[in-house]
Amino acid sequence: MGKKEILEKFSADPERYYKVRLFDEKGFERKSCMTCHRYFWTMDEKRTNCPDHSDDTYSFIGNPPTKKRFDYTQAWKEVESFFVKNGHTSVNRYPVVCRWRDDLYFTIASIVDFQRVMGSKVVFEFPANPLVVPQTCLRFKDLENVGVTGRHFSSFCMIGQHSIPNDHGYWKDQCVDLDYKLVTEQFGVDKNEVVFVEDVWEGGGSFGSSLEFFVKGLELGNAVFTEFQGDLSNYKTLDQKIIDMGAGLERFAWITMGTPTAYDCCFGPITNNLVQQAGIDADCELLVRYFTEIAKNLERFGDLSDVRKTAIKSAGISEEQIKKIITPLEGIYLIVDHVRTLIFAISDGALPSNVGGGYNLRIMLRRIISTLDRLGLKFDMNEIIDTQIDYLKKTYPELEKTRNDVKTIIEIESGRYENSKERMQKIVSKLKQKPTVDDLIRLYESDGVTPDYLKEMKVISEIPSTFYTKLSELHQSKKIEKQEHPPLEGLPETELLYYENDPREFDAKVLKSFDKYVVLNRTSFYARGGGQEPDHGKIAGFDVVDVNKHGNIVVHELKGGVPKESTTVSCVVDSKRRDGITKHHTSTHILNSSSRNVLGSWVWQHSAFKEEDHARLDITHHSALTDEEVTKIEELANAKVKENIPVTIQNFDRGTAEQKYGFRIYQGGIVPVKSVRIVSIADFDIEACGGTHVKSTKDVNLIKITRTKRIQDGVVRLEFVAGDAAREHLKEYEIKISKMSEAQEAKKKLDEERERSKQESRRIIPLILKDFAKKNIGTKIDTIVWADIHLRATESGKFCFAFSSPYDEFFHVTLGKELIKKDPTLVYFGIFVENNLVRVITFAGDKVPESKNAKAIAMETSKILGGSGGGNAHLLKEEVRIYINNLRP
Ligand SMILES: [Zn+2]
Ligand SMILES: [Zn+2]
Repeated sequence: MGKKEILEKFSADPERYYKVRLFDEKGFERKSCMTCHRYFWTMDEKRTNCPDHSDDTYSFIGNPPTKKRFDYTQAWKEVESFFVKNGHTSVNRYPVVCRWRDDLYFTIASIVDFQRVMGSKVVFEFPANPLVVPQTCLRFKDLENVGVTGRHFSSFCMIGQHSIPNDHGYWKDQCVDLDYKLVTEQFGVDKNEVVFVEDVWEGGGSFGSSLEFFVKGLELGNAVFTEFQGDLSNYKTLDQKIIDMGAGLERFAWITMGTPTAYDCCFGPITNNLVQQAGIDADCELLVRYFTEIAKNLERFGDLSDVRKTAIKSAGISEEQIKKIITPLEGIYLIVDHVRTLIFAISDGALPSNVGGGYNLRIMLRRIISTLDRLGLKFDMNEIIDTQIDYLKKTYPELEKTRNDVKTIIEIESGRYENSKERMQKIVSKLKQKPTVDDLIRLYESDGVTPDYLKEMKVISEIPSTFYTKLSELHQSKKIEKQEHPPLEGLPETELLYYENDPREFDAKVLKSFDKYVVLNRTSFYARGGGQEPDHGKIAGFDVVDVNKHGNIVVHELKGGVPKESTTVSCVVDSKRRDGITKHHTSTHILNSSSRNVLGSWVWQHSAFKEEDHARLDITHHSALTDEEVTKIEELANAKVKENIPVTIQNFDRGTAEQKYGFRIYQGGIVPVKSVRIVSIADFDIEACGGTHVKSTKDVNLIKITRTKRIQDGVVRLEFVAGDAAREHLKEYEIKISKMSEAQEAKKKLDEERERSKQESRRIIPLILKDFAKKNIGTKIDTIVWADIHLRATESGKFCFAFSSPYDEFFHVTLGKELIKKDPTLVYFGIFVENNLVRVITFAGDKVPESKNAKAIAMETSKILGGSGGGNAHLLKEEVRIYINNLRP
């Protein structure tokens, strides 16, 4: 079923699908476009073409059709006051990071705010009916258009007008009435200028008719009437019909201002500031001509560079003007657009990275820097951020809170890019031919080389228009893990005792047993979930080794056998294990908020794992943690433990919980149920969580971070222990420390001794050498013994044996060396004790035969003493030192 077929069917019956009260009342006429034959509704008798094919297309540029002028901020105030006046609730925007849907990274439309996925079904939850919302939406598919077309943004404000037709809400007639009045009365556009075009919408198994409304060729909004479910051959009316009118706030501002581009009136003073700083002498008349041509030609060509070429020709622009005006302006538009998107994304907790949604943010920041470099612009990034937030906070006051965090992240990320430039340059210098789109994707995916950098380096002249589309498709959807489906049909949901009085011993009925698995009618065994490991224990005497939840049914895995179906069995939960896991779970919450407090607002739980004796928490953070940060996090966590804050658990309707606490509650991911369990540690940490928790933070006793590690770009792991495990860890740690300090003390003593013996050696060695000269064989000085040594039949040498525990290596090496220099027939043998080792150092002079050289003696010694020896073979005759180790003195 395609859009085309639905449109054909609906347009064949306009009375039923498109004719609304307004058209009758005001005398709108239905016409078919002379060019494309699409149907549209107009009050203008002379109009013969649809807005895409009319002569007046984009004629508002330089000649706005309203008397009033509203910029971005004012335009929202107008829209909001209009809808509120007409019975709507104005709802604050939802985060741009779409944490309530696991198939989207970012919020792409206002309707997404109210969609919740339950199983395979999308359900709608509206906090009010009817409502209006200024929803910031992020879309990355048209990145190459941003800055160039005058109307494409990487993020924009979708005015969401939503209604469910019931006692409070309305349906088509009133919706179109309101949209018409908004445009004509509130904004003051002449009624003949408003054109409604027939269209359809389909997605997610439902579809319906829609009316797009245009003024002077600019599509301002699209009122979608989601009405049916199924496909054209077999469909039924939805139980819950929905009005999904989405309009572009930027366009409402633009139509009243008539500036050359929508960028000129939607970023506040920043665009003008930058144009001035860059010294661009922008002639407005020329820009009006150029951007009107761009707008008109955009739909005509597939490739943006063709659009540009045609516009340049039609507007009669010189090479010089392109270089001096158009190109730098496009750069400035791109920069302000991308910075605005980064402000929203970072404020809502997303980080630039090489994975998931963070990916698009990184590529945008790199585009900003490349564009600045390519155009030789020297802008102050912090100033751009400040000016934008100052402007945006009139509509979105929450951005004030994250102003500094946005700056921090952008600075860190910019620094990383600058550092990687040298490497990128090397890769680029190796490129032999002009890269294809696939090459570009590979270059970015594996080496982080952006096409904007290649453009900056003049490797390519334009970025192929398919690049960002392909790239964003690659990173669009999150992977959803496949689940196994055990044979559980027809079983009722398991009663979960751990959410009630949590008995550690209970009886239950066996509903089903198969292989090594058993399903009970009720259980107090916690099933693996939310990063919390399952309970162990016994069911009917068999060991419980694993517990998992499939839908609402808990399946226990047993070892050694399973009980018979329909029997009643007694069950025991391993309390020690459960208590350990529970302490680690509450500690995860404490550490998560501690980390955010210490590090910054961008910290979110990425994932977590809680076992009996250890746990880990992965958080989103841009860099590896420093020791100081780890200490601070741990200190704050333990301060919260000491405060003895009660841990409270309350169930809320999901919508209520979201409105009351915001989306921070989704630290552990989405909650696919209507009622959410909110675990609060006062207002320090509030999360939606299905895990088990202690009653008060003091029960955790102690939290000790044992290790931290950067596990992927933008994610840091904290390994920690809590409760008894932390105490155990601390005990071991203290023993280690005391051992270390003992060892340190011993080492200090030894060093002192060494120093003393060195001094003593310096005094005594000359005396020994003097004695040696006298050749008093057999004499003993201190612990030095001289002896004759029989070298060969005719020759004899001297043997010196030194046992001098007060002296160390320095003494023996110095003395040995000196002695064999003086008498090459001499063999020196020194023995001393160091730490727990007995060390032997031998030297043999040049003229000592191999059988009696240093190595031979050392080997002989080691045979007797049973130690191990080693030496330096090629220095055998002059100096061989052999240590005999591993000997107890
Ligand atoms: Zn047409
Ligand atoms: Zn939790």
